[in-house]
Amino acid sequence: VKEQLQGVTVVITGASSGFGKGIAIKLAEEGANVVLAARRTELIKALASSCGDQALAVTADVGKPEEVERLAGEAIDKFGRIDVWINNAGIGILGSYTDVPLADLTRVTETNLLGTMYGSHIALRHFKAKGAGTLINISSISGKIAFPFYSAYSATKFAVTGLTKGLHLEVKSEGYEHIHVCGVYPWATDTPWFDHTGNYSGHTARMQPLDRPEHVVDAVIDLIRNPQEEVEVGAYAKGTAVSSHLFPSFTDQM
Ligand code: NDP
Repeated sequence: VKEQLQGVTVVITGASSGFGKGIAIKLAEEGANVVLAARRTELIKALASSCGDQALAVTADVGKPEEVERLAGEAIDKFGRIDVWINNAGIGILGSYTDVPLADLTRVTETNLLGTMYGSHIALRHFKAKGAGTLINISSISGKIAFPFYSAYSATKFAVTGLTKGLHLEVKSEGYEHIHVCGVYPWATDTPWFDHTGNYSGHTARMQPLDRPEHVVDAVIDLIRNPQEEVEVGAYAKGTAVSSHLFPSFTDQM
């Protein structure tokens, strides 16, 4: 019997678009309380009103620790507790590494790595206090395999992978049987993500084919019901042969 999601409170960062938005819609349909965080207030407000009373929109930049603390506080004020926290907010910085402006290295690290570190810290503190909870970090296949022109992005996602795997082991060794830390590793998926990557130096770093975002959304919903250490989702997942003239290094690393 699948666990009910009715009344479960889920914080989702990066809920204004792509995976986060899809996860929010599906969770709300299943009766969960959803806390939608992103910088674009108008988008999360519109999404929250379409989800009804069980949704709260909180404008927050995950790269700012005080804003992530405020996000958790507003979620607890409204719903009394947080059961699941999904660190999904993330941006890509693509192109030849030496063409990427230094300021963008800071921005991608603050968003993808520090945002996930802050969210994990705050969520786990809350879960430890109540003895239960599920933390889901959206890493990437770029957090396991390196691709050319994805180096800065990959650095942040490898770090997210390390954080997530470490925390998974840590909560178990601390004896928290009801706290779960899960990593999600999507392959290239068709979301607006590629429109925000600042594709420096004109290298076509867009991977093909792009998978459908519903696959990632469904994998995350399954993970909430049945927490696993990790799930890999996408067109190339599970040992499917990879061929790409753009990325000859793919096959070396599989
Ligand atoms: P989208 O661009 O559609 O969504 C990214 C979300 O992150 C938006 O809601 C955006 O909201 C939010 N966001 C970005 N920066 C910040 C910030 N500083 N503070 C708060 N929110 C922020 O991309 P996806 O849905 O595809 O990406 C979701 C996650 O999945 C990311 O971590 C991405 O790296 C990862 N991923 C994506 C893959 C893909 O191929 N699409 C593959 C593997 C992993 P706003 O701009 O309103 O703040």
